[in-house]
Amino acid sequence: MQYIANDIHNTVENTIIPIIKALIDGVETDEEIANSTEIKLNIVRRILYKLYDLKIANYKRSKDPDTQWFTYSWKFEEDELIEKVNEESEKVLAQLKDSLLKEEHNIYFACPHGHVRYNFDEASDDEFFCVCGEELMFQDNEEVIESIKTKIAETESDLKSFNKKMAKD
Ligand SMILES: [Zn+2]
Repeated sequence: MQYIANDIHNTVENTIIPIIKALIDGVETDEEIANSTEIKLNIVRRILYKLYDLKIANYKRSKDPDTQWFTYSWKFEEDELIEKVNEESEKVLAQLKDSLLKEEHNIYFACPHGHVRYNFDEASDDEFFCVCGEELMFQDNEEVIESIKTKIAETESDLKSFNKKMAKD
């Protein structure tokens, strides 16, 4: 998993970020982006269309009157990105806060073999037994609560620094 995470991290660092930077700097066509970033043209194109799918890049098509070929001028949609990141972060934060409330207002019982984790009501419905026949054990959820709190703090601080970075002066 770590290997895959590193791989994704490298892709973002070495291709996606340079391409977005080129767009922000006003480099418009796929070929110009490929030249200025030294990223292969087919990769540049693939990423541009991915950014388009995500609605954070857009293009205008125009016909060259001499060659009759189409040129695509790409533009990075900064406001769309800011909006999207904020929306996503708010969604994640709402879910985390919801889980935190649940954890703080319930006590939990779990199968020692890891099959199930129930709150009191769910556990008593099954008379405190797991489907495997093992008796459910009380589970201290202090660690779960702490880890949710940490995630909330991290998400909030990531969002704050993203917005600060993107803020126009
Ligand atoms: Zn079990």
